[in-house]
Amino acid sequence: MKFCIPQSVQRALDVLTEAGYEAYLVGGCVRDALRGTEPHDYDITTAALPEQTLAAFRGYRTIETGLRHGTVTVLIDGMPIEITTYRVDGEYADHRRPDEVHFTSSLTEDLARRDFTVNAMAYHPTIGLVDPFMGRDDLLRGIIRAVGEPMERFSEDALRILRALRFSARFDFAIEGKTREAIFALADTLPLIASERIREELVGLLTADNAERILREYARVISVVLPQGHLTEAFSRLPAKDVVLRFADVLLSVGTEGARAALSALRFDKKTAHSVVAVISLCKTEIPADRAQMCRLLRKVGQNSLRQAFTLRRAHGMDDSAAMLLMENILATGFPYTLAMLAVCGEDLVALGVARGPRFGELLEILYTAVICGDVDNEREALLAYIRKYI
Ligand code: ATP
Ligand code: MG
Repeated sequence: MKFCIPQSVQRALDVLTEAGYEAYLVGGCVRDALRGTEPHDYDITTAALPEQTLAAFRGYRTIETGLRHGTVTVLIDGMPIEITTYRVDGEYADHRRPDEVHFTSSLTEDLARRDFTVNAMAYHPTIGLVDPFMGRDDLLRGIIRAVGEPMERFSEDALRILRALRFSARFDFAIEGKTREAIFALADTLPLIASERIREELVGLLTADNAERILREYARVISVVLPQGHLTEAFSRLPAKDVVLRFADVLLSVGTEGARAALSALRFDKKTAHSVVAVISLCKTEIPADRAQMCRLLRKVGQNSLRQAFTLRRAHGMDDSAAMLLMENILATGFPYTLAMLAVCGEDLVALGVARGPRFGELLEILYTAVICGDVDNEREALLAYIRKYI
């Protein structure tokens, strides 16, 4: 078996080997290469201590990513490669990542601290595959299995529970029996993990191709960190990579307030949270097929949220074809639907002698309403003539 690996990765292995240290590709890149998919990044595990790695790569750009955890990033021809010293993790407090790590000279020990057998393989172009936990068999059979005793491994780090679900959803793998039991048994320890890490895993899970199966089979586990409504077949009809749509669908029957609270607890960025709530809200109301009302809606929520709402509504069997056509027509013709799109601006009102203040905004609103209702064309002279009646 021989992998095709990028030149810069080969160089990184060569530099370490020539300096006298064992070095292997490890984790996700080995798993992905064996599955026949292109790894999105390459991690190297080595017997060299961090300072020794830094010394071996003198002359290259290096970043001290996490020296305490043994990680150095080397940039070779613009490609960042993470190089981590063989390590065993120290004591785990509170089901979170260990406070301290110990370096070791044993590759097997380093592989043993990893989460799943499919993630615990190492590869070197001349030595071949190092696979003490039979990860390759599990990969071929499509199985996610904890390395070692599952109860222990999930007790050490509860995030592994969500990682198991994410990998299972991404590769459409089954979760091995004892690993699955431990996931259910320890689900209630999930809130001990930092919200940001939970969110990252949930995003990975919900945007995976086979997320629907996992959301059903592990609903009890996921409900510890994400309130879920009733899941329908609509979920799988949504584009997998659309985070907003996938969360909006899962949270649909929780309602806008419940969704807002859940997303804020997961420390979602404001923009994503806002979009998810907007899409949920648009699924709970009628979308008008009337030009003026459509303009107001576009102004309020923006075209992205409206498009996403149409996608979600269609997935749930709603027919909005008239409203969609209207929206496309408004956008394609450049019909004004925001104040900024009016052919007059505040300065024009000042020139007409209107003082800045609340009346200012009211007058612009009067013009906006007149334009979207078709009472006046969006042309400067016509708008100025129209508004004079109100001054
Ligand atoms: P992805 O393609 O999603 O990046 P990955 O397997 O590379 O998958 P990473 O989070 O990048 O996942 O981690 C790299 C490797 O580090 C994993 O393959 C695994 O061996 C190990 N690892 C990561 N997180 C944990 C953890 N919480 N517990 C044990 N091992 C872990
Ligand atoms: Mg990775």
